[in-house]
Amino acid sequence: MSGGDKLDFEIHQNPQPVSAAERAAMLANPGFGRIFTDHMVTIRYADGKGWYDARVEARAPIPMDPATAVLHYAQEIFEGLKAYHAADGGVTMFRPDANARRFNTSAERMSMAQMPEQVFLDSLHRIIDVDREWIPTAAEGSLYLRPFMFATEVFLGVRPALEYLYVLIASPVGSYFSGGVQPVTLWVSQEYTRAAPGGTGAAKCGGNYAASLAAQAEAIEHGCDQVVFLDAVHRKYVDELGGMNVFFVYDDGTLVTPPLTGSILPGITRDSVITLARAAGRTVHEQPVSIDDWRADAASGRLREVFACGTAAVITPIGVVRTPDGEIVAGDGSGGEVTMGLRQQLVDIQRGRADDPYGWVH
Ligand code: PMP
Repeated sequence: MSGGDKLDFEIHQNPQPVSAAERAAMLANPGFGRIFTDHMVTIRYADGKGWYDARVEARAPIPMDPATAVLHYAQEIFEGLKAYHAADGGVTMFRPDANARRFNTSAERMSMAQMPEQVFLDSLHRIIDVDREWIPTAAEGSLYLRPFMFATEVFLGVRPALEYLYVLIASPVGSYFSGGVQPVTLWVSQEYTRAAPGGTGAAKCGGNYAASLAAQAEAIEHGCDQVVFLDAVHRKYVDELGGMNVFFVYDDGTLVTPPLTGSILPGITRDSVITLARAAGRTVHEQPVSIDDWRADAASGRLREVFACGTAAVITPIGVVRTPDGEIVAGDGSGGEVTMGLRQQLVDIQRGRADDPYGWVH
């Protein structure tokens, strides 16, 4: 079957899987994004033909012609989500349908083929089926799923490619930050911005991350873990971190997060936090926060907590923020009640330890 909303996957078991003993050793200390499972999913697309040749097979290098379009004009998008061992012994994923939708929004921005949501979701189920043994059982562990798509057409011309390859790989992970749930220190980049109005900031395309590396290097040079980007026009409103959205918690219990104006990624964790906080009776504003307000409100004590959120780290307190005009610390910089409460609530839903009134867990 080809081109429809449902594809038959050919399953080819890896003839040389990692041994159980070796796998156990790898899972003992997986780190983040360093080890991979035995299989991958691949699906091809051709203009006029649609999606075809869906397969689960041994994870292996992908041979490419030097003129493959992605190597030159960077038509590439990706997603990231996690599978967990649930409290009831099953395996769960958190809001994979939202990743499927965002994948297509990214594809649209990058003039790439749309993928039927059901095919995307089926691919996730397939890899979990074959690589279930790779899901860590440790408390903070999970199987990070990385679906991505890129232009495979062999052609040196600047136009949307006519052929694409969708690939899904999986990586067992421990905690994102090596120190566990520790506050992150941030560097406010003055030199670099991440995304301009009309640009690709809201798409999850590889190029956005390549462009963020110089700023991230600057952060590390200044002794910080991550960079926080300011908006490209006024150079003063907080956009987001390199891979996480930001929330501010004020003394009246209100939450504020930057609005989705096209320059930040619409995080699925961000959306979940807004939903949970509102359900708990909190006011949540999606409105701009300037770095000057951040500094002034932290100094006055009105701003109590600041946290970052995303799939990889769930919710992480933001500690010290270094700017050329000195340091900013909200509250005691170690993550207060609201930050840690929301984190616990989200993790409990994700792991099937709490009710899931929104049907987020698959
Ligand atoms: N912003 C950026 C730039 C990201 O890469 C991510 C990670 N996908 C996020 C925010 C958080 O998004 P999510 O909650 O969907 O993981």
